[in-house]
Amino acid sequence: MDVVARFAPSPTGFLHLGHAYSALFSWDTAQRLGGRFLLRIEDIDQTRCRPEYEAALLEDLAWLGLKWEEPVRRQSEHLDTYRDVAAGLLERELLYPCFCTRKEILAEIEAAGGAPHGIDGPLYPGICKRLSAQERRDRMAAGEPHALRLDLERALAETGPGPLEWMDLGKGTQTARPDLLGDAVIVRKDIGCSYHFAVTWDDALQGITLVTRGEDLFPATHLHRLLQALLDLPVPEYHHHSLIRDASGKRLAKRDEAETLRSLRETGIAPEEVRERLRAEQA
Ligand code: GLU
Repeated sequence: MDVVARFAPSPTGFLHLGHAYSALFSWDTAQRLGGRFLLRIEDIDQTRCRPEYEAALLEDLAWLGLKWEEPVRRQSEHLDTYRDVAAGLLERELLYPCFCTRKEILAEIEAAGGAPHGIDGPLYPGICKRLSAQERRDRMAAGEPHALRLDLERALAETGPGPLEWMDLGKGTQTARPDLLGDAVIVRKDIGCSYHFAVTWDDALQGITLVTRGEDLFPATHLHRLLQALLDLPVPEYHHHSLIRDASGKRLAKRDEAETLRSLRETGIAPEEVRERLRAEQA
């Protein structure tokens, strides 16, 4: 099987060394195995993405020495597709509308004396899961803003009793535990899509065979694996790498201004040096 590796940044800030590590690992793998390297712009959240960050990341990756296939897929240009695919899941009753505000969810959790904690925070307490089909229809028809949540029970009933697995480079075979995320939001109320949904769809659509990303996204893969089963999509291999540390040993988060590729470039460092530093982290 020919390797198709990708880097899929969201243009919500400048790329830092952690991003560069993901990008370079994908690039190196594709180069080593004679495969393809794709870049995808994950910009569904137009409230947070900025064209100037997109321009900057293209420039930074080119400076680092990477070359990607054109045209680059830009998720904001495919919102209709994601909407249609989600509509299919809604039709199959694998999703249900959720009209709750964050405040209502928190109040419900408090009133119930807490909620089971998943790997991504407290699980949704199921307020809108209890609505009748009629009420759902009426409120949707009235145009009430809503998210679409996964009906985990129905989803698991559909995928059957066998475990859902994926191969994680470094960590080995993993068994998906989507129960740890509960009835996750698959279509956000505000943007009509979600990272989980768009990333899973696009990785399959683009024939990606290797997904490289930081281990902060490891929990999300449990849900992505379930979505793949529900949508009958191929399962790529994953590489969830540990987060890159800065010179002081602190893990780099996206919000950190320090150690952006931009600021490194401004120090006059050569791209070869950055590549070497990142490849040393791979070892
Ligand atoms: N777009 C996501 C981000 O920048 C990463 C997506 C992925 O690699 O799966 O955080």
